[in-house]
Amino acid sequence: MRQIDESQLTQADLTARQIPDPVGRLRYLQSVASAPPSVSRWKSRITIGFLTLVVLGMVAAPLSLRMPGAAHAASRKPPSQPALPQILRVEPEVAPSADVWSVEKASDFETYSNGLRIENQYAVRHRPRAYVAYSIADPEATGGEKRTVPAGIVYHTTESLQAPFEPSQNNLLKRVGESLIDYVRRRQCYNFLIDRFGRVFRIVNESDAADHAGHSVWADDRYFYVNLNDSFIGISFEAQTGDGETSTRVGDAQVRAAAMLTEMLRNRYKIPGGNCVTHAQVSVNPSNMQIGYHVDWASSFPFEKLGLPDNYATPSPAVSLFGFSFDASFAQRAGERLALGASNADRELVQRAQIEHLSLTAYRKMLHRRYLKITARHRG
Ligand SMILES: [Zn+2]
Repeated sequence: MRQIDESQLTQADLTARQIPDPVGRLRYLQSVASAPPSVSRWKSRITIGFLTLVVLGMVAAPLSLRMPGAAHAASRKPPSQPALPQILRVEPEVAPSADVWSVEKASDFETYSNGLRIENQYAVRHRPRAYVAYSIADPEATGGEKRTVPAGIVYHTTESLQAPFEPSQNNLLKRVGESLIDYVRRRQCYNFLIDRFGRVFRIVNESDAADHAGHSVWADDRYFYVNLNDSFIGISFEAQTGDGETSTRVGDAQVRAAAMLTEMLRNRYKIPGGNCVTHAQVSVNPSNMQIGYHVDWASSFPFEKLGLPDNYATPSPAVSLFGFSFDASFAQRAGERLALGASNADRELVQRAQIEHLSLTAYRKMLHRRYLKITARHRG
């Protein structure tokens, strides 16, 4: 796991250290964070995460001095509104790279100005897309923003019994792909499936929700989303992951097709890059309050080739917003990059528990109760 050292501090970090007031220091760092990044996005995000911890540490240190012990801290009256997590989420906006428009629309296919072709002959309807985006600033609010336009994309893999990818196997590869399409359309699993030849098949119309994400959590700068079937578009790659492998193998044609599809969808629905994430990043298990129930695309997702920021290092919103946890097996199953995002979120959780004058256990319990309340309301 990558460590942060002093050599990674930027001019902004050094300037921040000159500001004596912690709040002023935090505001300065947030203003730096919202400016366009001048270094690689990954490094930028990690450095900002580190700076946030430095600032929170400075804020929290005097508070913790007043805390004689966790038990005593837990007995204090908890505040009605826990510390706002948006100070920990500083993902700068990434605009879609180009305008994309529809060129041709026939009964069974459509084409776009960026080279994308979508096959429509297998498209099916499901329930109309409708969901609530919840405000991070007011997580206990009973309402939320009702929406029908997708807020993001979740990428999946669909494992298939594959043949070698070579010309002599064309017929078998096509048969396998078609039976997979038949399987996922009967279950309304995804909005799109990309087969091994890089062909893009619309499965469930984007106007409708697909059953792809199950129990899941994600957040952007202002809103959080739970159970993402309705709020996020589901795109799956026909893929095969070998026994004991954590990385997924997909072909170059599939990655090129996914890049064009992502570009079109981001343009059409104004989807921020930070909301284009993998199933492994969003999947949770409410029965044991752990993240990583599904781990497809836990590593090796080609964010850069799809014109997206490397979102693996983003602190897991399920951990930082709702206190989900993970065990040692998670890092093994998920790989180093995703484990980094989880541990970043876990450190934030510890700091915020201190700020709230709560033991970590009590703070987690409060966040768990909030999660259960919100998901119950969401189902309703
Ligand atoms: Zn999945």
